[in-house]
Amino acid sequence: MSTLVVKDLFVDYVSKKSVTHALQGFSAVFSSGINVIIGPSGSGKSTLLQTILGLLNYEGTVEFDHKNLDRTAPKDRNFAFVSQEYQLYPMYTVFDNIAFPLKIMGASKEEIKSRVYAIAERTELSVCLGRKPRQLSGGQQQRVAIARALVRNPVVCLFDEPFSNCDLKTREKARGWTKNILQEQGCIGIYVTHDFKEALLLADRIFVVNDGKKILEGTPTEVYDSPLPLIREMKEASAV
Ligand code: ADP
Repeated sequence: MSTLVVKDLFVDYVSKKSVTHALQGFSAVFSSGINVIIGPSGSGKSTLLQTILGLLNYEGTVEFDHKNLDRTAPKDRNFAFVSQEYQLYPMYTVFDNIAFPLKIMGASKEEIKSRVYAIAERTELSVCLGRKPRQLSGGQQQRVAIARALVRNPVVCLFDEPFSNCDLKTREKARGWTKNILQEQGCIGIYVTHDFKEALLLADRIFVVNDGKKILEGTPTEVYDSPLPLIREMKEASAV
């Protein structure tokens, strides 16, 4: 089983007028499966993902399978990322959007075809492969973004509230197949949300963040049963 270990991460945003301490000694071990990061707005969740991707300057350590990545450029970390914005290439068809990372990797035409068809079937996009993004609904566009992230079997996939723009039904379905695909691939999924209900439904393990620090970690049941005031507030806010 793969592991992604982050140790004592510190990230500051510095401007002329102020300094924001966005991560303040965040440490965690993420294993294969879905690791949900939850916490209030501004608690450092997105900063944590950007740090793991190598997009921000940080103090501390990021290790994948015991290999230190602190000096490894984002493109060489080879982690996939899906955000709320679909960030599809508007001039490409759905097929070419999903195929893009495989082409960059130098996969053969046959392999590209078989992998794109397989993931399109899993994400219910088979009938859309010839369309351009503007001919798709918001939910379909988000599925293309996820299919594109997962098509190359990434070792780690980071999700930043990926379904927050989708309607409830789409969200429920998409969570189901995202979880299944990650499980089959043995991928480490790190999934940010502020929705406690979503965290409970999706997570193998939940990491609760506040003020740039991990304040609690456990299975969904352990976190649900925690007496911490923040957990009580999250339960009340999401009515679970
Ligand atoms: P979350 O994802 O939990 O909402 P963020 O990681 O986006 O939290 O933000 C953590 C803190 O860092 C917040 O106080 C936020 O205002 C601040 N922050 C985030 N991005 C920037 C930035 N680019 N410049 C300055 N401050 C930022």
